[in-house]
Amino acid sequence: MSAPRLEINLDRLHHNARTLVTLLGRRGISVTGVTKATLGSPTIAREFVRAGVASLGDSRIENLERQRGDGIDAPMMLIRSPMPSQCSTVVAVADLSLNSELEVIRGLSAAAGEQRRTHGVVLMVELGDLREGILPGDLHDVARETLQLANITLRGIGTNLACQSGVAPDAHNMGELSVLASRLESDLGVSLDIVSGGNSANLDWALGADSIGRINHLRLGESILLGREPLRRTPIDNLFTDAFTLVAEVIEAKVKPTHPWGEIYETAFGVAASHAAPSSAHRVLIALGQQDTDPAGLAPPAGFEIIGSSSDHVVLAAERAGTPVGSELRFAVNYAALLRAATSPFVECMFSRDLAAQDET
Ligand SMILES: *Cc1c(COP(=O)(O)O)cnc(C)c1O
Repeated sequence: MSAPRLEINLDRLHHNARTLVTLLGRRGISVTGVTKATLGSPTIAREFVRAGVASLGDSRIENLERQRGDGIDAPMMLIRSPMPSQCSTVVAVADLSLNSELEVIRGLSAAAGEQRRTHGVVLMVELGDLREGILPGDLHDVARETLQLANITLRGIGTNLACQSGVAPDAHNMGELSVLASRLESDLGVSLDIVSGGNSANLDWALGADSIGRINHLRLGESILLGREPLRRTPIDNLFTDAFTLVAEVIEAKVKPTHPWGEIYETAFGVAASHAAPSSAHRVLIALGQQDTDPAGLAPPAGFEIIGSSSDHVVLAAERAGTPVGSELRFAVNYAALLRAATSPFVECMFSRDLAAQDET
């Protein structure tokens, strides 16, 4: 088998997606399965659809295009504001997009007109995380202008928290989104079918709050893929946290001194690694590096400690000998490590199924 490789257990992803779709469905919340951390993998997208997600979402139109090219006909949502230069691809591929600039929405309307289509728009509202979003005071005007565009359907409003500043979804900001939705409807005489509360960081709130108000939609990536909520990265009950495993091959195994020698300056990636002596002098090099993953986001197997990395090497200290050249080491990944591994041309994706999990779903 080729290395490095990302082993992906589709049954575990199916289970995670299905479990979240069911739990949120009981609260009236539908789920868009977000595939961006996996380069929009059509295999994973198809598994999400089988598990019951209402639509697929990605921040890159190229990823959605790949899914369409692979024959997936589920509703698709572009979850990053379209680039003005990509408006015609966006309306050709995606059913709706998340938007925060009127100028872009005008571009989408023009492109949709040329293609004799209508394009759905969800207006993103800034509620404190300071990434994308229209300031609440400007929402009314932007919505009114949007409603006047010929080839655009205003589908709803949404927000995104946690990603940029770590702001947690709570009763206050989610309450504000609900109030904004209801106020827009009464002021403008429209009905909004989507009130999209956010991403995986919303799960604790969405499943725990006494009242979720108007929120009826979430866009979920990390919680399905890795079984964790992103605010504290705690595992979510009954989900698999190990659907992905990164496997790398050993290319050197030696006993070496625990400290470097010579005068010490910058390393390939800036600051020198800490000079705390590793607990063992058994050193193992694997053919994996910053080009393939985020080494800081890898959890090594028991008995191994990651002590450094550069473009193409990760250096580990091993408690004992017995990891010969040519053997493989398996790592759990966090979101950053997964994102980079799934998007590196050097890392092959290998899909598998797992009968035990299949029985459950
Ligand atoms: C990435 C992203 C998501 C999904 O976030 P997760 O934390 O992976 O669930 C949802 N919405 C937007 C706008 C995003 O950019």
